[in-house]
Amino acid sequence: MIQISNLIGGQFEDPIDGMWMPNVEPATGTAYGRIPRSNAKDVERAVQCAESAWPIWSSTPVEERSACLRRWAQCIAENAEELIHLESRDNGKPISLAQSVDIPRAQKNLEFFAGAIEHFASEAHIPAGATHIHYTHRKSIGIVGCISPWNLPLYLFTWKIAPALAAGNCVIAKPSEITPMTAWMLSKWAKEAGFPDGVFNVLHGLGNEVGQAIVEHPKIKAISFTGGTQTGAHIARTTAGQFKKLSLELGGKNPAIVFADCDFESAVSTTVRSSFANQGQICLCSSRILIEESIYDAFRDALVEKASRIIPSDPMEPTTKMGAVVSEDHRNKILSYIQSAKEQGGSILCGGEVAPSPNDRCKNGFFVQPTIIEGLGADCSINQEEIFGPVITLQRFSSETEAVDLANNSDYGLACTIWTRDVSRAHRVASQVESGIAWINCWLVRDLRTPFGGVKSSGVGREGGFEALRFFTEAQNVCIPTN
Ligand code: NAD
Repeated sequence: MIQISNLIGGQFEDPIDGMWMPNVEPATGTAYGRIPRSNAKDVERAVQCAESAWPIWSSTPVEERSACLRRWAQCIAENAEELIHLESRDNGKPISLAQSVDIPRAQKNLEFFAGAIEHFASEAHIPAGATHIHYTHRKSIGIVGCISPWNLPLYLFTWKIAPALAAGNCVIAKPSEITPMTAWMLSKWAKEAGFPDGVFNVLHGLGNEVGQAIVEHPKIKAISFTGGTQTGAHIARTTAGQFKKLSLELGGKNPAIVFADCDFESAVSTTVRSSFANQGQICLCSSRILIEESIYDAFRDALVEKASRIIPSDPMEPTTKMGAVVSEDHRNKILSYIQSAKEQGGSILCGGEVAPSPNDRCKNGFFVQPTIIEGLGADCSINQEEIFGPVITLQRFSSETEAVDLANNSDYGLACTIWTRDVSRAHRVASQVESGIAWINCWLVRDLRTPFGGVKSSGVGREGGFEALRFFTEAQNVCIPTN
């Protein structure tokens, strides 16, 4: 059993009330560790430590803050193998995915914001013949809370804490209680990287306990949250009266719009990836596949053929393409959506069941077959609610207008993919789809400088590049006479 602890004020501490909770490996269904079940008392201690550290950290030269992030990134590089193993074990994701995406990207996040803060500058406004100069002073906020989900554990954790720290804030971070291991590993190297005690604090535990206490604490001035839309709405309500800065990256129900003039092979293979990567548990995954009538049958058959060949397997096997979903509760939620799809008259074209256990080690693991459903109306719950698993639906359209209407027939607006060889149409449709991100003839291609976030129920605010550094700073306008 691996036992982890909180990092508070540079020390590893057990939860003050001595409460613990199990950490379960999704591929085996068994607990392999225990984690602190922290609460408001632990948050209070962390806030006190962060409060004492902030004057030092906020006045630390940018080059030094940047160097700490770079050294931390180096710790990830040097311990990559262990992190890859732990990420796969904790989350159920294929080890090849942790190796190619999660851990390299976590390292990159730290390196990226180490560089970004050195290039971050603010504006001065000096009109011709000015009697006064105005300049914008971007100051760190103070203590900020960073709360992250389980689907891309270290990747999304570092995506928040790196800009927060780079901008001179002290951080109280809470990784998901479902996947706490790699955040704990990272916390072990904070001192080695050079962060003064109290600058970076990590508290483990349940969202409605320690998470809620972070969100409520009056000295925590900003919350950067990634997770479900309902949790985001609850955080927005909780913090409204305190006027905290909020960045909310929430759920999605992303359309893939496939026009008849697309590059068929490329559209099929990327749509299989965009639908089922990480067991469909990426907020950017496609879940509503909208296909132009004239190629509907051919595209459907090709998708089904490729998806049926994906066999959920032991995540630790290097050849595995699909691993376990993250928990028993989550598996049951996914299965209940599939059941509901059947009851609403949907046809299951492939999958639709618990997948057989790949080996004895995984006999109690949480595996679901990749599932494709057709024949459901655009307004039914399966086409409206986020399932966040390996389940997609197919719908047909017969005109560009209908495609855009179907794509926008959702409370969500995170990402879309558009498949067409007609460049004018690609730009036109991208501008009409209500989403924060539009990928044309590709998916999940990222440049960390670009704004990242959603519209409608997919969130408020943007992460990435200078957007994140703006979020983690307060702008003050300073005005001074020219002579
Ligand atoms: P979740 O909302 O259940 O939990 C996210 C985090 O919030 C966890 O650390 C959890 O402990 C914490 N939390 C829960 N209740 C809280 C409360 N009352 N106060 C403070 N913190 C609280 O989400 P999840 O199940 O971990 O993640 C899946 C969801 O995340 C999906 O909806 C997915 O679309 C979304 N997501 C969005 C993005 C994005 O960038 N938009 C990225 C990844 C995941």
